[in-house]
Amino acid sequence: MTSDNRTVQYLEPLNAKEAVGKVAELFVDTFGAAPKGVWSAPGRVNLIGEHTDYNAGLCLPIALPHRTFIALSPRKDTVVRLVSDMGDKAVTTTDLEDLKPLGVKGWGAYPAGVAWALREAGFAGVQGFDAAFVSCVPVGGGLSSSAAMTCSTALALDDVYDLGFGGTDAGRVRLIDAAMRAENDMAGASTGGLDQNASMRCQANRALLLDCRPELDAVQSAKQEPFNLGALGLELLVVDTQAPHQLNDGQYAERRKMCEDAARILKVKNLRVTADEIAASPDPFQALKETLDALPDPTMKKRVRHVVTEIARVRSFVRAFAAGDVTEAGRLFNASHDSLAADYEVTVPELDVAVDVARKHGAYGARMTGGGFGGSIIALVDKGQGRPVAQAIADQFAHRGFHAPRALAAVASDSAHKEA
Ligand code: ADP
Ligand code: MG
Repeated sequence: MTSDNRTVQYLEPLNAKEAVGKVAELFVDTFGAAPKGVWSAPGRVNLIGEHTDYNAGLCLPIALPHRTFIALSPRKDTVVRLVSDMGDKAVTTTDLEDLKPLGVKGWGAYPAGVAWALREAGFAGVQGFDAAFVSCVPVGGGLSSSAAMTCSTALALDDVYDLGFGGTDAGRVRLIDAAMRAENDMAGASTGGLDQNASMRCQANRALLLDCRPELDAVQSAKQEPFNLGALGLELLVVDTQAPHQLNDGQYAERRKMCEDAARILKVKNLRVTADEIAASPDPFQALKETLDALPDPTMKKRVRHVVTEIARVRSFVRAFAAGDVTEAGRLFNASHDSLAADYEVTVPELDVAVDVARKHGAYGARMTGGGFGGSIIALVDKGQGRPVAQAIADQFAHRGFHAPRALAAVASDSAHKEA
């Protein structure tokens, strides 16, 4: 009976100046020369709109103050050498020449995959590089350490190889494509683009309303919405449950396929069309019922109900937050979680318990965030309440024999940028 009293681990973001010094030093120690520059990209947390991206729906991420820093120098050959302050600091080496999808083992697939994807996209001038990484984004917590890595790499390569995309929103979309391909095709980790868009396009004190309809162009697809927690006396607590990851890739693919099958049965190109039709009907409740009645399978009905109602909740959340209606914003967090638990079935006990404890300790609302099957929860709490609520969750986890969680405070931060 000692673990119950452990102080919860609270992750502070790295100070940018110190991180730049640290990553430059790691680069020099590893490769024996100063880097050409240092860039950084943030992790992200999605406020609401889960499992909507691949349904051409809406989601609402913010960038975290927690970032991955990359020190990089271009090379004249096609070799990629990488080192990270995480793990054993061994150098991983790859060659871009003749590289095939899934051709890199381990974490090197992410940065090497970005260069590979840019070359595949026709930027033959992109050559090899040496890079060092220092990060404070929790890895594997659903806060997109992977996108922080691929997006920081993409921005660095854009800069040193003069691609000219990093300076505009439309240009960044090209880099997002490369970051996504790196994850999907080289690392073999399915991603719908939310993470990379957030890391590349978010702004401080803003949430990014991302419209994932494929027919939209880059500029139309993103809208900056006000998200100033401090102005409302609020804090957004993030708790990484550290729940052991289950076989979530198969589950993700399965849900994705079921949504596509449902769209085919409903004779629409994606479930966003269904969601929009329902929202525009005079009686959305009845329209949803009729849609679900047209589906043959009870599980499919539940999945579609989540997607349709979740897209509506994103719109409602944006409205509620703009009006300063914290109670309604919290209610929507709760409704989102409950839908993900009951209808989409992507929660695990750690996520449900963390959400439950946060609600019981005064959160306006709490929900799992990210794909589920582990990962993190977010809770909207009064300023100053983040740590006590996180502690209450940690205590309950210890009591239940779960892994110790770790927590951080999310403030809407700036997207990928050059540091030095
Ligand atoms: P998440 O993106 O939610 O953190 P993922 O499973 O998508 O989780 O990505 C985590 C993987 O990304 C790690 O297993 C590792 O391969 C890679 N990664 C991310 N950040 C780093 C880092 N700083 N150093 C080394 N590898 C990293
Ligand atoms: Mg990831």
